[in-house]
Amino acid sequence: MAPLRLDTPVKFLKGIGERRSDALARLGIATAHDLLWHLPHRYIDASMVSPIARLKVGEDAAVVGRVAAKGILPTRRGLRIFHVVLRDETGAIECVWPGQAFLDRSIEIGQTLLVAGPIRFYHGRQLAPREFVVLAEAEDGDGPDPIAAGRVLPVYPATHGLSHKVIRGLIGRHLDQLIGLSPEILPDELRLRFDLPTLPDALRQVHHPSSTAEAERGRRRLALDELVDLQLMLGRAREVAKRGRQGVAFEVKRQLTSQLKDHLPWPLTNDQKRAIKEITADMTAPERMHRLLMGDVGTGKTVVALFAMLLAAENDYQAALMAPTELLVEQHHATLSRLLAPLGIEPGLLVGRLTAADKTRIKRQLATGAMRIVVGTHALVQETVTFHRLGVVVIDEQHRFGVEQRAALMGKGSAPDVLLLSATPIPRSLALTRYGDLDMSVLKERPPGRGAIRTSVRSDSQRDRVLDFVRDECLAGRQAYVVLPVIEETEKADLMAAKTMADTLAARWPELVVGLVHGRLKATERDQVMRAFREGTLHVLVATTVIEVGIDVANATTMVIEHPERFGLAQLHQLRGRVGRGGQASHCVLVTRMPMPRLKAFAATTDGFKIAELDLEERRHGDLLGQRQSGAADIRVARFPDDNDLLAQARELTKAVLSADPSLDQTRHKALRERALARYPKAEILFRVG
Ligand code: ADP
Ligand code: MG
Repeated sequence: MAPLRLDTPVKFLKGIGERRSDALARLGIATAHDLLWHLPHRYIDASMVSPIARLKVGEDAAVVGRVAAKGILPTRRGLRIFHVVLRDETGAIECVWPGQAFLDRSIEIGQTLLVAGPIRFYHGRQLAPREFVVLAEAEDGDGPDPIAAGRVLPVYPATHGLSHKVIRGLIGRHLDQLIGLSPEILPDELRLRFDLPTLPDALRQVHHPSSTAEAERGRRRLALDELVDLQLMLGRAREVAKRGRQGVAFEVKRQLTSQLKDHLPWPLTNDQKRAIKEITADMTAPERMHRLLMGDVGTGKTVVALFAMLLAAENDYQAALMAPTELLVEQHHATLSRLLAPLGIEPGLLVGRLTAADKTRIKRQLATGAMRIVVGTHALVQETVTFHRLGVVVIDEQHRFGVEQRAALMGKGSAPDVLLLSATPIPRSLALTRYGDLDMSVLKERPPGRGAIRTSVRSDSQRDRVLDFVRDECLAGRQAYVVLPVIEETEKADLMAAKTMADTLAARWPELVVGLVHGRLKATERDQVMRAFREGTLHVLVATTVIEVGIDVANATTMVIEHPERFGLAQLHQLRGRVGRGGQASHCVLVTRMPMPRLKAFAATTDGFKIAELDLEERRHGDLLGQRQSGAADIRVARFPDDNDLLAQARELTKAVLSADPSLDQTRHKALRERALARYPKAEILFRVG
């Protein structure tokens, strides 16, 4: 047998065959390396678990016991309750999961469960689990209980068909060998200076701790490494952005910018004014601007970007705005055309579907400098596009582009200023890790004169009334979205549900036109449906979460979200941002079987930053089922705000490395460079350009 390497596919490891490797793939584990880095998301030790006999009503407890009985109880109101009787040596307790009958498929008699949640009184003591873990399968038999034996038990994210216990066994079995393949990568001098355990030690502490404190110490080393990798990339990106010639020091000539101000159909908000001031200060300075403009949908980022573009234009430079989809580009183009009309400027449009002749014409105008303002998709970064003198680059929904695409557009000028736009407010700690290399302007205030959005939470039984309301809105000339979740694991069933919903609504409302968009449609088909909705041909759009961020249909005033409990709060907020874009009052209705407090908290605020905090908090408390919500995708070990201090440490460490060795060429940094690039393969370009 070939010797084990970190890139060996897991199916070649002892104890893992095709079937298990398929299950592991669902957890994102493809190689031996992935298995080693599949870290416990929680530890249990004896001190946390209460004997069932001693549970008291009102307390919040964790218990371990075997499933002695289970079943589904219908209630009079049509809610189906899944319940289990859990038994340990001291006694038994009933656990109930209202509305989660599907658990009947994953929880079996004889399994050992860890369950945590509040104890209440309902015909006896009852536990309402917030979370549960299958610690052992029925067929695992009665082996010694590791918790009772006083050991700290790591709990791993598990998946259907692969219990946490099996995963623990697999990792335990290969741990020594895998750690042997993972030598320290930090130079000793740095490791000692920051008082860190070695990488092999940290990995062992995390997977096989003798105390939870030790596990935490290991985790923090791994979290630090993760942040160091990120900071190395950010530091390098900043370096590359500033490298070479200095930026252009634009002059405020009060020509186009002043004209725009005079002709705006509305006054700027204070936040917009401040952002424009910050951008102007950057652009008039000799260094290159590298700024992120962050604001919820509808806070008016486009006009702020336009000021930057006009400042370049009045200095005889060109400006380019890039957005991720043709639809968004067209929308920006329409907005800019409208705002620029009084100035006699016509912005250009460069998207894939133009005729060859039109493309050639626009490319010529860009090359000669005749066209000063252009809006486009990634068509802008094609090799055949050249600019006469590109002064500022604006990138909307910047996270939807890869590092290379952003770099490629910046490379079209000699040292253009860069303004990135983001409609995803994030808490400060995250902003630091993700955008540590950027200056930031924030728009919080919404322009006045837009209809307020009222959010309400309704139960399943009220759906008919909600739908009648939607119909009335549409008959009154407005439009509506009906959104359904599509979660990867259950994609097929979810898509069916979306299709069924569209059919049901079409049958229910013969007087309305109902359309459907989902992620399986081709981009062109999707654009077609979205266009029809924007043009008002469709009254109702049934959609999975693919409806674009930033899509602006002012006439759409109602959004119904089905199964809102399956969305993260930040995602709900993004969805909701698609209504309330016109003058009329708008409505967002969450229809759910589980009107949970988190949904009520969401309904109570429209502040994107506040919701981002709530969302982060939710993710931090994680979910024992291991369903990570999308978010900080590359940050998996670090947790905020707990690890805020690590952030500072990572920056310090990175600075020490980069100031001694800016492109990580030295032998002592080779491992560091390799790992950072393995984590961020797309950032390779940052090291190639030298
Ligand atoms: P964002 O990109 O931040 O979601 P947009 O730039 O698309 O927001 O602006 C949303 C809408 O608000 C646009 O129709 C725009 O014309 C309008 N708008 C922008 N600024 C103001 C303002 N100060 N007062 C009134 N309306 C504004
Ligand atoms: Mg926008």
